[in-house]
Amino acid sequence: MKSYAANELHSRGRRYNEPPPTYRGEYQRDRDRIIHSTAFRRLVYKTQVFVNHEGDLYRTRLTHSLEVSQIGRSVAVALGLNEPLTEAICLAHDLGHTPFGHAGQDTLNACMRDYGGFEHNLQSLRVVDKLEAKYADFAGLNLMFETREGILKHCSVRNARELGDVGERFLERRQPGLEAQIANLADAIAYNNHDVDDGFRAGLLTLEQLREQPLFEAQHLDVRAHYPDLEDRRLIYEIIRRMIGTVVTDLIEETQRRIEASGVASIDDVREADESLVQMSPEIYEQHVSLKRFLNKHLYRHEQKLEMTRRAQAIVRELFEAYSGDPFLMPLEFAEKAASRNEAQRARVIADYIAGMTDRYAIAAHEGLAG
Ligand code: MG
Repeated sequence: MKSYAANELHSRGRRYNEPPPTYRGEYQRDRDRIIHSTAFRRLVYKTQVFVNHEGDLYRTRLTHSLEVSQIGRSVAVALGLNEPLTEAICLAHDLGHTPFGHAGQDTLNACMRDYGGFEHNLQSLRVVDKLEAKYADFAGLNLMFETREGILKHCSVRNARELGDVGERFLERRQPGLEAQIANLADAIAYNNHDVDDGFRAGLLTLEQLREQPLFEAQHLDVRAHYPDLEDRRLIYEIIRRMIGTVVTDLIEETQRRIEASGVASIDDVREADESLVQMSPEIYEQHVSLKRFLNKHLYRHEQKLEMTRRAQAIVRELFEAYSGDPFLMPLEFAEKAASRNEAQRARVIADYIAGMTDRYAIAAHEGLAG
């Protein structure tokens, strides 16, 4: 590993001291704890873009997280960085997501407006720091500082003040380690590409529309030239795998250049740098952002999706209102916690309960309210 990679020997460690693992590294242990967590298993029934029951072949938040991890690990290895740490951050990055994707998170945020709001990124940290109840000696998963730093991608100044060590960099305007920077972009690369695949499969995006995107069209022309008779399904897949290859290669090479030019020699140097060193070249980044905007306009805001969005908003809002009115509509462990606290703390218990729900659990709970 390079000198500027995260290294457990120089880590800021865990919040509760534990004996070191015998046959694994510390970050491998983090990854394993994340995979064994309840929140991780729930991701299989949580929406990425398409609600889980819309079809068996669409990405869920679990398969999305695996694709992010796979891209992140490739980049980390190519750059001589810490692969297990990158993997741990990637696998954990969406643990705090609500049911129904962004529609769920925005609604829960609105419900929580008077009580500190709700942000899925912050919730992911809350899951690994507090909510997972598995270990005898501590709450949460007791992960390494660098893993927690990577999970907390962004954060308001107000929240940062309450978060202690992982909040500091937002107050002091420092960068996270390179492994966290990679996880951040691996997320964006993964969804840009798999959402093209899912959107096309769902019939919400057409080949003609996609061809207006330079990232897509460059690969489209290339694949067509070599395989003029390829059927659409394989054509799309061949284009997507080449798009991922193009962007990932560009990311590795541009980042390598920036690391060399910056002269960083340690993770502390990385943290003090003026900007993120993990970046695409300006040209590819522009194409990547263009595709992201395209998906936002034509897929995430597609009329067919908006209908599901409205339904999801109603479910989350009505669950929140019902539990606020009568906490004992929740399972006893949540109800008792909620009932014994002040208004803001009660709202937070309710938000934790709703955020932990899978899509189908939320739908069933909502139907149960009427009964
Ligand atoms: Mg994600």
